[in-house]
Amino acid sequence: MSNHALSHAAETIRSARHVIAFTGAGISVESGIAPFRGPGGLWSRFDPNLFDRNRFRREPEKSWELLYRLFYEGAAGRARPNAAHLALAEMEARGRLHAIITQNIDGLHHRAGSVNVLEYHGSTRTMTCMDCGLQVDAADVPMEKLPPRCAACGGVLKPDVVFFSEPIPDHVHRAALAEAKACDVCIVVGTSGEVMPAARIPRMAARHGAVVVEINVRESAYTYETSTIFLEGKAGKILPDLASEVIGK
Ligand SMILES: [Zn+2]
Repeated sequence: MSNHALSHAAETIRSARHVIAFTGAGISVESGIAPFRGPGGLWSRFDPNLFDRNRFRREPEKSWELLYRLFYEGAAGRARPNAAHLALAEMEARGRLHAIITQNIDGLHHRAGSVNVLEYHGSTRTMTCMDCGLQVDAADVPMEKLPPRCAACGGVLKPDVVFFSEPIPDHVHRAALAEAKACDVCIVVGTSGEVMPAARIPRMAARHGAVVVEINVRESAYTYETSTIFLEGKAGKILPDLASEVIGK
């Protein structure tokens, strides 16, 4: 990646009126969160069927064993936002970024201080009781015994992530489409652009006239079709550099 490309991207963002970011697993890899897809990804090691809503209803303890290992214990439970998450949070705080649409369920954008975050596939930060619908903060849920249960009614708690047989929550989907149509710059970070329907968002932004700035370690489905500027490399390095130029430090 050339400095020229970075400056060009920064200038484009500085002169824009409505900037959004669309993020994927690549932005959280540097926080130690394993991606789901690709070689060595979680789906190559675990049974994705455990994340089917009907299966979860039938065998919650089995699904929960995996949910706990993947999202709440050890490295995943301790994951902190990295420089890329923080750079986006700072851009928002300085009025340079309107919204983040993320495919990630790790909650790291919120932890970094970002406020307007659309979690397209939900989040592990909260859970909802399957029986009474009570929503609770995951941090307040004891998980020594799985599945964790609702303090109000004893029903099984399910993390508020979108399972395979579930639709994208309608209000999130609508809000994401509205952002894609309204923005004039869409910063794509750490995503290969293959997971539907989320992957359509940058394409829709481009169709409505937005400039797409892509930050990825390798070429993606967007690079030649959708992106105007391609910044090749790690998000944890490029985004802070970009944010500094945009903010003007
Ligand atoms: Zn309940």
